[in-house]
Amino acid sequence: MKTAIFCRVSSKEQEDTGYSLPAQEKFLRDYADKQGLEVAKVFAVSESAAGKVQRKIFIEMIAYVRKHDIPTIIVETTDRLTRNFADVPTIDLWITEDENHQVHLAKEGCILHNTSRSHEWFMWRVKVATAEYYVRLLSENVKKGQKEKIAQGWLPTKPPNGYKTIGETGHKIHIIDEDTSPFVRKMFDLYLTGNYSTKRLSKKMFAEGMRSQLGHKLPHSRIHSLLRDPFYIGKIRWNDDIYEGKHQPLITVEQFNKVQAMLKSRTTPKYRKHNFLFRGLLKCAGCHNSITFETAKGHIYGHCNHYHECPQKTWVKEYEVEAQLLDGFETLKIKNSRIVGWLKKALKESHQDEIAYHNSTVGELQARYEAVQKRMDKLYDDKLDEKITPEFYSRKLKQYSDEKDEITESIKKHSQASTGYINLGVNIYELSQRAKELYLKAKAKDMVDEQRALIRFIFATLTVDEGKLSYTYSKTFKILSEAVEATNCPKVDKIDDLENEKFELTKKPDSSTQKDALLPLHPIWLPGVDSNHEPSS
Ligand SMILES: [Zn+2]
Repeated sequence: MKTAIFCRVSSKEQEDTGYSLPAQEKFLRDYADKQGLEVAKVFAVSESAAGKVQRKIFIEMIAYVRKHDIPTIIVETTDRLTRNFADVPTIDLWITEDENHQVHLAKEGCILHNTSRSHEWFMWRVKVATAEYYVRLLSENVKKGQKEKIAQGWLPTKPPNGYKTIGETGHKIHIIDEDTSPFVRKMFDLYLTGNYSTKRLSKKMFAEGMRSQLGHKLPHSRIHSLLRDPFYIGKIRWNDDIYEGKHQPLITVEQFNKVQAMLKSRTTPKYRKHNFLFRGLLKCAGCHNSITFETAKGHIYGHCNHYHECPQKTWVKEYEVEAQLLDGFETLKIKNSRIVGWLKKALKESHQDEIAYHNSTVGELQARYEAVQKRMDKLYDDKLDEKITPEFYSRKLKQYSDEKDEITESIKKHSQASTGYINLGVNIYELSQRAKELYLKAKAKDMVDEQRALIRFIFATLTVDEGKLSYTYSKTFKILSEAVEATNCPKVDKIDDLENEKFELTKKPDSSTQKDALLPLHPIWLPGVDSNHEPSS
C-alpha cells in the first residue's frame, strides 16, 4: 500500500538548498517501512515558512493523494498537521469519505480513520483547537503591545514621512527627521496656497525631492492621506480613534485644520468618551451594523444606529445583554468527568507540542540572528579591507540592522505568547470551563478591556434581535465544542461506563438563540438515550 509523508524541515536554509534529510523524514520513512507502506512522495514544509506557504504544500499533498488514490498519510504528530488548522475540515473530509483512508500520527502511535475510537478523534480535535488558540495568542499579544505603546504616547508602527525612528527595540520613539521634514512642511504650505490639487502636489513634491522610503514618487493618494494625518499635529490615529502623542508636532493645528477644511474631509474622529463594554462587539440583527451605545437616564443603552433602513426598535440595556452573554459562557462547561479528563490529557499533549514548536521556532530565530550578526561582522571587515564602497556598506548595514530588529521582535512575540492568556494567565481549559467566573472577576476589578478581550476570545459574533442576544463561538471554542460533540457520535465505539455518570448541560441549548451551540440538539453522548433524556423537538 502506498503512503504520503508530511514533515517539516527545521530551517529555512535546509529548505532553500534542498540539502537535507532531516531526522524527522528518516523517522517517518522507518515508520512506513514497519507498517509495510511504500512511500510515494514526501511533502516538507519549513517550520519558519509563512502560514500561506505551509498551507499551499498541505493543499498540494491532499490533491496528490486524491489524484493518485493514495490511502495513507503519515505525519509525526497531530501538531504537524494541525498547525494548518484552517485545513482541518479538508483532512476530516478526506478521512471520512473513504473507509480505507488513514492518517498515521507516527509519534503518538495513533491512526485516524473513519472508525477511529472516539477519544482519538477527540484528542485530534482538541489539539486542532489549541493550535488555533496559540496563533490567536500571538496576534492578541501584538495588539496588546501596540495598545500599550499608544497609551505611552507612541505610534506602534513606522511614522509618516518627515519623522524617523530612534532607540532600541522595545523602546523605539519617533523624532522629526531633519532631512525629510522640510518636504512635509512644504507640502502643507503648498496645499494651503489653494493652487494645488493632490495630484499636482504629488508631481510638485517629487520635483522638490520628496521620496517614498523606496525612493519613488509619492502617489497623490498618499499625499492625500499624509495631509490628513494628525500625526503632524502631535496626535496618533489608530483604528479610527485619535490619541495624544508624545512626539513633536511638525505642523500647527491652525494650518492642519485649514487643510482639512480644504480637503473637504469629514470632521476628524472624536476622542473616545466612553469605553463601552460592547462597543464594536454587537451587531444589529436587522441591518448587521454595529449597535451604538449611549448613556440615558443613568443607564447604558444599545440600539441600532439606523444608518440604514432597519426595522429594529428596541433599546436594550447593557446589563441585560451582559446577563444573556453570561449564559453563553456557562454553556461551554462540560460536566462529565471522563470527558474533562480527556480534554485535560489532550490539552497537556498539545501543550507539549506548543513547547516543542516554540522552542524550535525560537531556536531557529536565534540561529538566524547569529547568522545576520556574522554577516554584519564580515561586512565590517570588507569595509576595512576597502572591498566595498561606503555606500554599499551603509545600505547593507541598515538592511542587516532591520533584519536583526525584526528577529528580536519575533522572538519577543513568541516568548510572550507562551506566557499564557493575556493578564488573566489562564489556559484554554480554564478558559472554557471557567469563562463566566473569569469574566466576573475582571468585572469586579473594573477591567473592561479584559472583559472585552474575553468576549472576543470566546465569541465570534454577537447579535441582538430586539434585545435578545444570540451568538456563535470563535474558532477555538467552536472546534472544542465540536470535539465534544464528535466524541459522542454513535457510530464510534460505545462509552460504556458513561451510563451511570451524569453528563448534562448546565443549560439546555436553545436553538433559537444559538447558531453554533456547543452541544448538539440531541446530546448523543448519552449512549442508548437513558430515561432522563427527552428527545428534542
Ligand atoms: Zn439595525
